[in-house]
Amino acid sequence: MAQAILTVDLSALRRNWRALAAASEAETGAVVKADGYGLGVARVATALAEEGARRFFVAIAEEGAALRKILGPGPEICVFSGHMAGDAKLIRAANLTPMINSIDQMLRHVESLPGQSFGIQLDSGMNRLGMEPAEWSALRDIALAQKPALVMSHLACADEPDHPMNAHQLAQFRDMTDGIDAPRGLAATGGILLGPEYHFDVTRPGIGLYGGQPFGDAAPVAYLDIPVIQVRDVIPGESVGYGNTWVARQPTRVATIAAGYADGILRGMGPKAWLYTGDQRCKVLGRISMDLIGVDVTHVKQAPERLTLLGAQQGIDDLADAAGSIGYEILTSLGARYDRRYTDD
Ligand SMILES: *Cc1c(COP(=O)(O)O)cnc(C)c1O
Repeated sequence: MAQAILTVDLSALRRNWRALAAASEAETGAVVKADGYGLGVARVATALAEEGARRFFVAIAEEGAALRKILGPGPEICVFSGHMAGDAKLIRAANLTPMINSIDQMLRHVESLPGQSFGIQLDSGMNRLGMEPAEWSALRDIALAQKPALVMSHLACADEPDHPMNAHQLAQFRDMTDGIDAPRGLAATGGILLGPEYHFDVTRPGIGLYGGQPFGDAAPVAYLDIPVIQVRDVIPGESVGYGNTWVARQPTRVATIAAGYADGILRGMGPKAWLYTGDQRCKVLGRISMDLIGVDVTHVKQAPERLTLLGAQQGIDDLADAAGSIGYEILTSLGARYDRRYTDD
């Protein structure tokens, strides 16, 4: 079989949630947008619900509707994009809680679904989603009278603890929400690590659950093992891969492995990423193809049956560094072609 194996360690995911919940002086939710950061929302959300997560966050109503089928009626499912035109049916049927981002969304929500739960998203400086301070002061009393399930905002620089933006956004959020009688939330993974003054009533970690920075103590969750299809010896002067970008200077043994950029192995990581067999690391040779990668196994005694791209030696943030990217992008790029296996012990 040439299918690469993506293993998702659900027990590591559970440990990460428990650790972030222990660090949160608040209720701890879970962000499972983008198919649980690419790792499979059905298994991920079910495991997190078993650990005790009662509030889940997704990006769009369609994700919320799919998640409701997975979780059943109990947990709250919050939708960051709020209440968009055309969403009412889904929001009602799946009992979703849209995070209202504007006066327009608020009007749409109360007109189409009076009595349906909702939250409020405020902009505290990131200028991405949420109501601006002026909009919020206009709407505040009316919105609060209808008991929002959560009033939240999002930090732009929480992965940089010393960034002055953090304190600025905290002050802005407090300015907009101090004294209100509704649960508040500001912290994602980075915000939890900034300290208790950022926690308020509900935290909502995402990347830390899946083993990524800025949660330095995170247990790795994703493992990727790729079969070797063929091994060949090349002599000095011969090249490997598209564009002849790598040319042998000495006799070299080349393993061709069965995954490529179509599987989310970003082309740009080629020159800096490694494949591993046990503790031995093997260099990528030439360009990463759509479905194949050439790897230097000259120094490996016995030709390996597979090589590891994600594992104990190299995690999602190492790959991200190699690709000039972030762990979030590495995870959410993981393709559909893998044999996805789940372990849970
Ligand atoms: C994605 C997202 C999160 C989760 O952030 P992490 O950095 O992955 O913990 C939380 N809140 C909002 C609004 C988001 O978009």
